[in-house]
Amino acid sequence: MATEVVVVGAGFSGLAAALTLARAGVRARVLEARDRVGGRVLTRWLADGTQLDLGAQWVGPTQERVNGLLARYGIGTFASAAYGPSTVLFPDGRHAGAPEAAGRVLDLLDAYAERVDPAAPWAAAQAVEWDRTTLAGWLRTAAPDPATARYLGRLLAGGLLAAGPDEISLLQMAFYLRSGGGSRALLAMAGGAQQDRVVGGPPVLAEALAAALGPDAVRLGAPVRAIAQDHAGVVVHTDTDRVEADAVVVAVPPTLAGRIRYDPPLPALRDALTQRMPMGSAFKVHAVYPEPFWRADGRSGVAVCLAGPVTETVDNGTPDSARGVLTAFSYGPEANALRRMSPGERRAGLLDALAAVVGPAARRPEEFVEYDWSADEWTRGCFCGAPTPGSWCGYGPELRRPVGRVHWAGTETATRWAGYLDGAIEAGERAAAEILAGAGR
Ligand SMILES: Cc1cc2nc3c(=O)[nH]c(=O)nc-3n(C[C@H](O)[C@H](O)[C@H](O)COP(=O)(O)OP(=O)(O)OC[C@H]3O[C@@H](n4cnc5c(N)ncnc54)[C@H](O)[C@@H]3O)c2cc1C
Repeated sequence: MATEVVVVGAGFSGLAAALTLARAGVRARVLEARDRVGGRVLTRWLADGTQLDLGAQWVGPTQERVNGLLARYGIGTFASAAYGPSTVLFPDGRHAGAPEAAGRVLDLLDAYAERVDPAAPWAAAQAVEWDRTTLAGWLRTAAPDPATARYLGRLLAGGLLAAGPDEISLLQMAFYLRSGGGSRALLAMAGGAQQDRVVGGPPVLAEALAAALGPDAVRLGAPVRAIAQDHAGVVVHTDTDRVEADAVVVAVPPTLAGRIRYDPPLPALRDALTQRMPMGSAFKVHAVYPEPFWRADGRSGVAVCLAGPVTETVDNGTPDSARGVLTAFSYGPEANALRRMSPGERRAGLLDALAAVVGPAARRPEEFVEYDWSADEWTRGCFCGAPTPGSWCGYGPELRRPVGRVHWAGTETATRWAGYLDGAIEAGERAAAEILAGAGR
C-alpha cells in the first residue's frame, strides 16, 4: 500500500502533523534529513549532568499545545532561574532599569498588534504602510529618546526575531506580538514565554512524539531533495529512495522549503515567498562556572545590553546542578560580526560582554559551549524565518496556501505563538487538518 501522506521534517511541526494524521487513521511517514528528531531543539549534557539547551528551551503558560503534550507524555517542567530583577546595561557601563518610556511605546505597539489578524496580517487597515516601515524607522519617531529606541530595537527585533531593528517591518513586529498574545506575554519570564524549562530538555518531548508514531514512521538520514506531483499522487525523492503518497506536508522553514526541487515548479508567488523569509541570525552561548557567583553579588544575571556583541543574558542554571550557567544571546548584525571572528576572538569578546554584566569572574568559565544554527545545513538560522519588509503584503497569502497536494507547516506558518514550539505544533495540526478535510475524513 502506498504511504498516504509523507511529512518532510521531524521537528515539532512535522511530528505533530504526523500524529494528527495517524490518530485519524491516515498512514503518515516522516522523512527527516538529520540523524535525530526535534529540529531546532538540542540538549547537551556536561559530565556532571548539567543540562544545556542549545536550541529552544522555554515554554510559557499560554502555550497550551506544547504544555498539553508535555502533560500527556508525563514530561515535567521547572521554573527558569530568577534571583532578582533584570537590568539594562547602558553603553556608558551604567546598570539601571528599563528606560522609563519603554512601557508606553510597548503599549502603543500592542495596540497596533490588536489591529492585526494573525491569520492575515496583510489585510490590516494600515498593512501597506506598516509593512514598508522598519521597526527601527518607526522607533525613531515613536520613542521619545534614542536610548529607548535602542533598547526596544535590540529587545524586540533581537530578542524575539534574532534580527536587527532595520531588518524587520513594523507589520511583522505587530503580527508577532499579536501571535504571542502581546509584548508582556512574549518578553516576561514568570507569566511569559520564558517562564519554564523542560526536564531533560525539549528533545525529550520530540522523542516521545516520534515514539508515539511507531517504530517505522520516522526515517532518519533522509533529506528530501525533490517532490513531484500529478493527478494520481506525489512522489517524494530522497538521495536513495522514492516514496509515493497522496499528499505531502512540508514541515521545514520556508527558506529550506524553497531549496527542495518541485515538479511542476512552484507557482511564482509561492517561490517568491520562500526567497523573502530569511531565518534570523543568533548566537546562543553558554558559559559554565563552578557556582552562580553573580547571585551572591545580588545580581540576577538577567540583562539587556544596549551596546556590544551581546544583547541578552540569562541565568540558565538548573535546580539539580550546583554549577552556574550564564547564557548570552547575540542577534542580527552583532551575531554576524561574531561569526566573522576566530573562535578564540569570539570567546574573548563574549566573555568580556558577560564580565560587563556580572563582573570579571565571568572571564574564567570552566566550560564554554557555542552552537551556530546558521551554520547547520538543516536549519540555517534561528529562531525562525520572518518576511522581509514589504513581503507580508506582497506574498503573505501564499504562506499557508497548499500547492496541489503539497501542504505547508512549520512554526513560520502558525497564527498563535508563531516562531515557537507551540506554533510549530499548531501549524502541523493545521496542515494535517487540511489534508483530512480534503479527504473527507
Ligand atoms: C537557539 C534557539 C532558541 C530558541 N528558543 C526557543 C524557546 O525558548 N522557546 C520556543 O518555543 N521556541 C524557541 N525556538 C524556536 C523553536 O525551536 C522553533 O520554533 C521550533 O523548534 C520549530 O519547529 P519546526 O518543526 O517548525 O521546525 P524545525 O524544528 O526546524 O524542524 C524542521 C525539520 O525538518 C528537517 N529538514 C529540513 N530540511 C529537510 C529536508 N529537505 N528533508 C528532510 N528533512 C528536512 C530538519 O532537520 C528539522 O528536523 C528557538 C530556536 C533556536 C534555534
